[in-house]
Amino acid sequence: MNTQKVKCLIIGSGPAGYTAAIYAGRANLSPLLCEGMQPGGQLTTTTDVENFPGYPDGVAGQSLMDDLRRQAERFGADLQYGTATAADLSAAPYKVTIDESRCVEADTLIIATGATAKYLGLEDEKKYAGMGVSACATCDGFFYRKKVVAVVGGGDTACEEAVYLAGLAAKVYMLVRKPFLRASQIMQERVMKHEKIEILFEHNAVGLYGEDGVEGVHLVKRAGEADETHYDLPIDGFFLAIGHQPNSGIFTPWVETDETGYIITEGNSPRTRVPGVFAAGDVADPHYRQAITAAGSGCKAALEAERYLSAKGLI
Ligand code: NDP
Repeated sequence: MNTQKVKCLIIGSGPAGYTAAIYAGRANLSPLLCEGMQPGGQLTTTTDVENFPGYPDGVAGQSLMDDLRRQAERFGADLQYGTATAADLSAAPYKVTIDESRCVEADTLIIATGATAKYLGLEDEKKYAGMGVSACATCDGFFYRKKVVAVVGGGDTACEEAVYLAGLAAKVYMLVRKPFLRASQIMQERVMKHEKIEILFEHNAVGLYGEDGVEGVHLVKRAGEADETHYDLPIDGFFLAIGHQPNSGIFTPWVETDETGYIITEGNSPRTRVPGVFAAGDVADPHYRQAITAAGSGCKAALEAERYLSAKGLI
């Protein structure tokens, strides 16, 4: 297998990965950044980012990521397309296999692989994948212009997706399993005030139906243990917005994770229990999960990598 040796390997191309690459590049670590399947990460599937400092009028997610990418390139980061498919962190230099076809040996590793959208686990989600089921409103919303859609979830993501879809669709139902939303106050107000959005509290989706694509959702309304109503709601699109799963799978034999799979780091630092291996961004953050906090932790990880290499006499 083709092997490349680097001082610093960064896996992931969200705000954490690119920020780590900017800092590592400026520190002359000649980082290699493996961009993964979705260069730019989750933010490329968002519309406007309104809370990234420095953009008083907001910025398109894709454009923010393009800028971060160019900034990383400017300082000499080697940005490569590819997905990390296996890892061996038993001893330094750490070995990471990319696309099952090439190997990178790295003195330091920054894991910035982010998190992936969760599904409910219904058979019908697979059956109708690409035929009415989506976990990304900004990617697929266009196909539902003037149609009726449902968004599952009651967090900030669900509210954002619902508002975005309401700009295109004729009607948006939010399916919320609890009698309240979990989202921030500002997002709650936006969805509650929106004339095209109807929130169905205490509703669970239990299946989908349709001939050649989604034509409706089987719902259960639960108000207490005994009070259960089953009914069908005609919809054209079914959007999941129920949170994310951290992409830590290939590293779990070595780094410590919590029960969901979020990588546990030391105190307030990005240090994992493997010396020279750091975790940054959503893969290690079950609490904040913001672009700006991810970028901050990417910065910390690169600074830690530089210190580690320097202490080991590797730079
Ligand atoms: P959250 O974990 O905050 O919310 C998930 C939602 O999905 C909850 O309403 C949850 O219900 C519901 N849910 C989870 N599992 C199921 C299930 N099996 N069936 C039905 N409903 C389910 O995830 P988000 O992705 O919304 O947000 C993640 C983090 O990112 C949050 O901290 C959020 O504030 C932040 N964020 C910030 C944004 C911004 O500031 N612009 C934009 C988007 C996200 P329940 O409440 O019952 O658990």
